[in-house]
Amino acid sequence: MSTRRISGVSLGVAVAVGCAITAAGWLKGHEGLAIVADAQAAGGRITDPNGVAPDRYVYYPGTEVLDKAEIRVIACGTGMPSARRGQAATCFLVETGNGDKFIFDIGSGSMANLAALMIPYQYLDKVFLTHLHTDHMGDIDSLWAGGWTAGRPNALRVWGPSGMTPQLGTKYSMEHFLKHANWDYTTRKFNISTVAGTIETTEFDYKGVNQVVYQEHGVTIRSWPAVHSGDGPISYALEYNGIKVVIGGDTFPNKWFLKYAKDADLAIHEAFVAPELFVTLYGQPPQLAWRACCAFHTSGQAFGKVMSEVKPRHAVAYHFLNEEATRYSLYDNIRETYDGPLSMAADMMVWNITKGKVTERMAVSPDEAWAVSGTGRQPPPDKGQPPVYSKFILDGRWDEGAQPAQKRMLDEFAQKYKLQDQDWRKQMMKKQQ
Ligand SMILES: [Zn+2]
Ligand SMILES: [Zn+2]
Repeated sequence: MSTRRISGVSLGVAVAVGCAITAAGWLKGHEGLAIVADAQAAGGRITDPNGVAPDRYVYYPGTEVLDKAEIRVIACGTGMPSARRGQAATCFLVETGNGDKFIFDIGSGSMANLAALMIPYQYLDKVFLTHLHTDHMGDIDSLWAGGWTAGRPNALRVWGPSGMTPQLGTKYSMEHFLKHANWDYTTRKFNISTVAGTIETTEFDYKGVNQVVYQEHGVTIRSWPAVHSGDGPISYALEYNGIKVVIGGDTFPNKWFLKYAKDADLAIHEAFVAPELFVTLYGQPPQLAWRACCAFHTSGQAFGKVMSEVKPRHAVAYHFLNEEATRYSLYDNIRETYDGPLSMAADMMVWNITKGKVTERMAVSPDEAWAVSGTGRQPPPDKGQPPVYSKFILDGRWDEGAQPAQKRMLDEFAQKYKLQDQDWRKQMMKKQQ
């Protein structure tokens, strides 16, 4: 059975929502509807005016212990390649009850949402890419460098598909990402841990059908091919404790998804708004709108047809700009061919999945999150690295002005933390010799 607390499963009207409206705004607009009580949207029954609400319709990250038998999925990006402040591109975090966390795609803009969960970067070190379009991997830079500076103690690990040639595969992409970021890497590893600035890539055959690409600690991840703007893209299924979550990468409806996503507990698949909206809102010529929506992506009607075949316990539609102008028509398109449980994904939507129940909520998280430390500590930087400063640049330092100005503040700091004298210029000059 599926429970939908915000959008309500029974009426199917507001439903399409799941979006940026606040829970309070929703309640205001729907006062008195039976659906509120049904969905316990007001937070359960409160018996004491000073008491705690027993059952909230929102998720506050870091406040709930995930049950050993449970999976939590958080949408950290659900949108499109064109950047938008209110919605990032594809990223789904999957947390399993054994303590593992898996990032499926890390699309442009999604890191701000992922970081807002305030999960130590130590635990955010496994990324599974569905394909190499930037709306699915564009924020790898921010996860790589942000996690490194915030204390990830080990290398970032990336899994992803091969391509028709080695130059079209995940390994090539990650190797050349590090080349692109070479100045960042070289200057940073001079000061902080080297190993945490590296990427370990596992590339697997994109043609593998239901192949195991990861199997550890009771979690199995499989992949199968997707059909989307050229060879290479794939979809994933994660299985843990008898629960199956499917993360469909970009794809036209395909035979493998129909077969291997079958009976998923949560099946995530893209759904595109109608081509007419790409013409009127996105500024695309009609021919391109046709192709983009419905030749190498999946229309609402086709998404519904796929889900009617797969019959998941709960279906999730994503990869559309979720707003007033789009969500209702896409929802209607899907309902032409599918009448099962459905979420219209928005950033920070959360699903808790157990064997008995799928619950959808929205996460409430800060805009100004800080990184949180885990238990691991980074090793020190490698010794004997070549200098990163020339004498020419070091001679440009205005020490005679800056040092007296900051001396009192730094002396107090050094005393508090028992630090030795840090004459940076002297240290760097020594490395010149
Ligand atoms: Zn794509
Ligand atoms: Zn995409």
